[in-house]
Amino acid sequence: MVEVENPAADQAPSWVRCERCVTLIYGKRFSRALRVCPDCGSHARLTARERLDQLLDPGSAQPLDHVDCVSDPLGFADTRPYPERLLDARTTTGLREAVLCVQGTIEGHPVVAAAMDFRFLGGSLGCGVGALITEAARTSLRLRIPLLLVTASGGARMQEGVLSLMQMAKTSQALAELDEAGILVVSLVTDPTYGGVAASFATLADVIIAEPGARLGFAGPRVIEQTIGESLPAGFQTAEFLLRNGLVDGVVPRAALRATLAQLLSLQSARDDTPATAQAPDSPAADTPGADAPDTAGPGGPSGRILRSAEELPTSDAWTTVRLARHPERPTTLDYAAHLLDGFRELHGDRISEDCSAVVGGPGRLNGRPVMLIGHQKGGNDLVERQRRKFGMPSPGGYRKAARLMRMAAKLGLPVVTLIDTPGANPGPDAERGGQAVAIAENLRLMARLPVPIVAVVTGEGGSGGALALAVANRVLICANGIYSVISPEGCAAILWKDAQAAPTAAAALRVDAGELLRLGIVDGVVPEPPGGAHTDHLQAAALLGNAVTAALDELKPWEPQRLLSERRDRFHRFGLDSGLSAEGGAR
Ligand SMILES: [Zn+2]
Repeated sequence: MVEVENPAADQAPSWVRCERCVTLIYGKRFSRALRVCPDCGSHARLTARERLDQLLDPGSAQPLDHVDCVSDPLGFADTRPYPERLLDARTTTGLREAVLCVQGTIEGHPVVAAAMDFRFLGGSLGCGVGALITEAARTSLRLRIPLLLVTASGGARMQEGVLSLMQMAKTSQALAELDEAGILVVSLVTDPTYGGVAASFATLADVIIAEPGARLGFAGPRVIEQTIGESLPAGFQTAEFLLRNGLVDGVVPRAALRATLAQLLSLQSARDDTPATAQAPDSPAADTPGADAPDTAGPGGPSGRILRSAEELPTSDAWTTVRLARHPERPTTLDYAAHLLDGFRELHGDRISEDCSAVVGGPGRLNGRPVMLIGHQKGGNDLVERQRRKFGMPSPGGYRKAARLMRMAAKLGLPVVTLIDTPGANPGPDAERGGQAVAIAENLRLMARLPVPIVAVVTGEGGSGGALALAVANRVLICANGIYSVISPEGCAAILWKDAQAAPTAAAALRVDAGELLRLGIVDGVVPEPPGGAHTDHLQAAALLGNAVTAALDELKPWEPQRLLSERRDRFHRFGLDSGLSAEGGAR
């Protein structure tokens, strides 16, 4: 932004001109809009002080202690000696270094915040910045409150030579300590964030959000263009590009940042003071899984408890169930998230190369309890949306996104709830190139050892490895009209009957419905559905699902991680051992 007329140094200029669309904007209006152009939406750069003023609760910011560092370790001079440049930067910005660190609150949630200032030698990462970021991380660790990093940097500070390179390792170590201690780290990427900052603390956060248009990368666009001898496409390395390529969790306009950050920061406090669960205080302790689950059914619906025996289920033939499980109007994971969770925040990307649209997930609160919800997303009744969601068949990046969110849940101590609804793994060549088998296998292993409660619900189709990759849980439930199978009935019919028309026969033979799965011990319980099926009443279906999941989580809540892990291992270990299981007799 160009200040057209500047009446006094400490006042907003009367008029500024947007650098992108050249509109003249009245200075006060521009300030009120948080320095976002009201015409084109361009987010102008902020100083570190402006940034902290915008984000933190008024009057809450307390500066952290400054850490003294060597000032000119190499005795460096280019056209001017480094100490002169440093002095200039300090005079112009009023800052001692290119980052400003404070402790404060955002909508009442405590946070340690470090905001970089691009005016200070291009926000370069030198010894001083490295020391201050590390100190901010240590303060977070000591106080056990989340760390917020707001980045703006051209890269490492050349004038401090290889010592500045070492700051990448030093700051990354500090963040690793926060990972071990379970302290939330959020990164806010602002324009521009490049080089050593991008390749260390800016991208090591649990959640990375970016302002619209903000660019982040290791190599700058000019370097890349010189190397390849051609120009880069418009939008390369922008926030929107990063979101598409799975590298950031979301693009958030400046006006929504405070609310978004507050929602994320609340996860940390929720970890230690989970409110009383939905279980009534006078209800007896439940030794039988879900036996005394709260009976708070949805509007006018049947009991919200988990059905435990096949006899309680309405009888229907397997093929009818298959068709109901695939009904295009059944609630999707995002439908359930909207109806069930308060403050659901979808997080995006596998942090490698893509954001698979067939798997969705993020934190939210179920009856006041913070959980990480992860599920397949089919796309509902809209064909275009179904195609965009790959009909719920994830690419390898989908499993990797799920894995990333599960690791984050483990770090923050959040229970994981997975909703399974997929025809199966993805039968395309790209999924194979991307290592679909490896991605599924790694999820099975990760879930086996995840030290937080896991509840999985097959809400629709539980198709083969694509389903199991989200279903290694302490409690596996299935909706009354869900199915779970090693192969689609059509696939089985084509291979064994040599006739796809034999699918109904195959469905019955494979024993894919809830009653059979209960007898086989594959599922621990069945979630009732509204009369006619979940598609007839999304609200009631969600209420029934919410009650069942809450009951399952209540059971697991008091368990230590070791008990969760050994119980989960035993649950899957017993499958296939000869323990009296037979087609006629049912489990044990
Ligand atoms: Zn503009």
